[in-house]
Amino acid sequence: MWRLFRTERMWQPRALKDRYDVVIVGGGVHGLATAYYLGQRGVREVAVLEKSYLGAGGSGRNTAIIRSNYRTPEGVAFYDESVKLYEALSARLGFNVLFSQQGHLTLAHTDSAIVGLRVRAEVNQLGGVPSRLVWRDEIAKLVPAMDCSDRPRYPVLAALYHPPGGIIRHDAVVWGYARGADRYGVHIHPFTEVTGIDVADGRVTGVRTTRGDVKTAAVLNATAGFCSTIATMVGLRLPITTHPLQAFVTEPLKAFLDKVIVSSNLHVYVSQTDRGECVIGSEIDPYPSYSHRSTLPFLESTAQHTLELFPCLKHVRVLRQWAGICDMTPDYSPIMGEVPGIRGFYLDVGWGTYGFKAGPVAGRRMAELIATGRTPDLIKPFSITRFSEDRLVGEKAAAAVSH
Ligand SMILES: Cc1cc2nc3c(=O)[nH]c(=O)nc-3n(C[C@H](O)[C@H](O)[C@H](O)COP(=O)(O)OP(=O)(O)OC[C@H]3O[C@@H](n4cnc5c(N)ncnc54)[C@H](O)[C@@H]3O)c2cc1C
Repeated sequence: MWRLFRTERMWQPRALKDRYDVVIVGGGVHGLATAYYLGQRGVREVAVLEKSYLGAGGSGRNTAIIRSNYRTPEGVAFYDESVKLYEALSARLGFNVLFSQQGHLTLAHTDSAIVGLRVRAEVNQLGGVPSRLVWRDEIAKLVPAMDCSDRPRYPVLAALYHPPGGIIRHDAVVWGYARGADRYGVHIHPFTEVTGIDVADGRVTGVRTTRGDVKTAAVLNATAGFCSTIATMVGLRLPITTHPLQAFVTEPLKAFLDKVIVSSNLHVYVSQTDRGECVIGSEIDPYPSYSHRSTLPFLESTAQHTLELFPCLKHVRVLRQWAGICDMTPDYSPIMGEVPGIRGFYLDVGWGTYGFKAGPVAGRRMAELIATGRTPDLIKPFSITRFSEDRLVGEKAAAAVSH
């Protein structure tokens, strides 16, 4: 009887060794996915060091929107690979990550917003990503619960409809990658904080942690909102500021919404989970901070904008509210690759408000880079040198409120 109810350990506790081939700092989706794909490539001496529990950062706090309808050809190709990896992830990991590709609508309430969405639709289609402009009649059929009348102050005029977009179970993704990495022999060390990184003659030689020193020739910074603190350990100043991002969920309701709805004009997005809760969010708090505190002004303004779209929710109660921190780059695109001049120091950062969906592709491609020494074409546009070479990958139009 006892055996029936015994739960499987997702990863094993292991002793911290004094040497690893690769040390990954950060036990979120990016760190764990990279560890998993390194394991898949046969790289065995890999450790993931996490200062808290796995998924304590953005990976356990996000609103789990997956999509690839970005604004630049570089972004579309990159996120498209991630959506495809997510589509196969449950089967690959043998663990259900509950990916629901219910479709994603980005609303336009002004003429200029329609122009922006039209450009995105064309870039998406050229990149082979299903995405098209739809008008109010079709939107009303796709989302019958939404107010598509002329009554609101900013009526819905059109939308970018992206059928492959959807939502996923974020902690299942984190645990699934952790379990997969563990099975490849990766050492996962929660509650192990990196406090320093040793560099000699332009090369990484080791890390210092709260549980002892570890020698290694390769360190991956996958710490998202905390990435600047890790970069400082090797004397690197990143073009990144950290901002809080908040969200909340309502009490569970009967199923009434089976699309992800985003309105950049109203600064709000809404989806409904399988459990019936509405997950609601907005853009980053406008000031840099490492604070993880929720605020009342966010709740009030985001609830108000939600009701402009869904007046039917006016008596619904809020169940809980939370915040995470996001590593914002000037162009709303990530930074990936080895840092010139610091051999063995790799960045997988700048994930802002949109990095959960990129976990699989970033993990796979960073693992390829670390294992082979060659930067995959897909991530070349996101190198840190783009800021000094004046070739930004401007994604703000597709990544500010739409996570
Ligand atoms: C409210 C909210 C909603 C969001 N919604 C979406 C969404 O819908 N879709 C989407 O794609 N993205 C979304 N995001 C963004 C997404 O969550 C992040 O971009 C993504 O999770 C980053 O993953 P990561 O693995 O790089 O970092 P994280 O998951 O943040 O993990 C980094 C880890 O590093 C650890 N760490 C930090 N310093 C150290 C140290 N010195 N030593 C050891 N460990 C350390 C931290 O404890 C943390 O666990 C949202 C974020 C928030 C906050």
